Amino acid sequence: MVQNEVLVYTATPEGKVVPKTHLKKETSEFDVDSVSLNGGFVLKTKALSLDPYLKGRMRKPEVKSYSPPLEVGKPLETLGVGEVVRSDSPDVKVGSIWRGLIDAADYSVVSGIGLHKGKVIQNEEQLPWTNLVGSVGMPSMTAMVGLFDVGKCKAGETIFISAASGAVGQIACQIAKREGLKVLGSAGSDEKVKHLKEIGVDVAWNYKTEDTRKFLEENPFTKYFDNVGGETLDTVLETIGQKGVIISCGAISQYSVTPSERYRLGNTMQVVAKSIRWEGFIVSNFDTTEHEKTLRKLVKAGDIKIKEHVVDGLDNGEAFRDLLDGTAHGKVVYSVNK
Ligand code: NDP
Repeated sequence: MVQNEVLVYTATPEGKVVPKTHLKKETSEFDVDSVSLNGGFVLKTKALSLDPYLKGRMRKPEVKSYSPPLEVGKPLETLGVGEVVRSDSPDVKVGSIWRGLIDAADYSVVSGIGLHKGKVIQNEEQLPWTNLVGSVGMPSMTAMVGLFDVGKCKAGETIFISAASGAVGQIACQIAKREGLKVLGSAGSDEKVKHLKEIGVDVAWNYKTEDTRKFLEENPFTKYFDNVGGETLDTVLETIGQKGVIISCGAISQYSVTPSERYRLGNTMQVVAKSIRWEGFIVSNFDTTEHEKTLRKLVKAGDIKIKEHVVDGLDNGEAFRDLLDGTAHGKVVYSVNK
């Protein structure tokens, strides 16, 4: 019997996520040896990813979206990785590494019907557990899909990337530089801007204290990797070049506002006037096998710098709040069972 810490989704937020109100850590006993598996296995978690889209899953069940709503009173389900410690599944051997959607907990059962939510992976490069859900996990695949599959980015172009110092942004910036693009990046603190300069971003600024429009007018660009939506997107519509491409990855500036506070775009006519291609995507709809191989090599060789915000053990949702409001810097992950 072990004491199992679990992060539970306790209430639906109207606006911002409040620790202990919407997410709460609970402890219960977990019997690794006798818990029922239903054709699945017991996973001893090693790292858990916190991602902005989870805010979208914390919604009322009747509201439709691309990912299912979380159920109040149940553990937060998120991307995690760990070791299989007991198994009833012929396809998942004890000792293997499994990555997929799991309960945010020290230990969890992935039942037979949950097997499709992830897979056994290898770690020949011996990357840290946190990297497996970050720098070579979903956020980095998002950067690759956005840049190449959707954005068709090429050497010689100039790209603007917002939330440039975050999990997706920091990878998008570095890969775009390696590919030969000029990179403009905005972030919400001077410390983050310093980080952007260290990872090679050509022009970086703090959008909270400096005028984004000025930087965009001074640095002609035709590609925009949009992580934030809202006012920044509206400014891009005005300043992007003819036949510009907007890669719509996310709109985090709008995730924690109430419907009446939502930003209303004023410049959408520019899509017509400039023949802009404006395309959104969901990373899970793409095969990212080759992208992951590329990133594993780059990360292992130290050719891509990784900034992580690692929290040891589960909390009451403070890390998720810090991710959403920008207090955290880098890929936000829980490291558990160290
Ligand atoms: P980040 O690590 O970038 O963390 C979020 C950052 O957003 C914060 O650190 C903060 O940075 C910034 N931010 C918060 N509020 C605002 C605001 N009001 N205006 C501007 N920026 C704000 O998160 P990820 O890298 O994981 O995700 C980035 C984006 O990519 C999100 O929109 C997410 O939903 C999206 N995404 C999309 C996927 C897809 O399949 N399409 C998959 C994964 C992610 P700062 O201090 O710089 O403001």
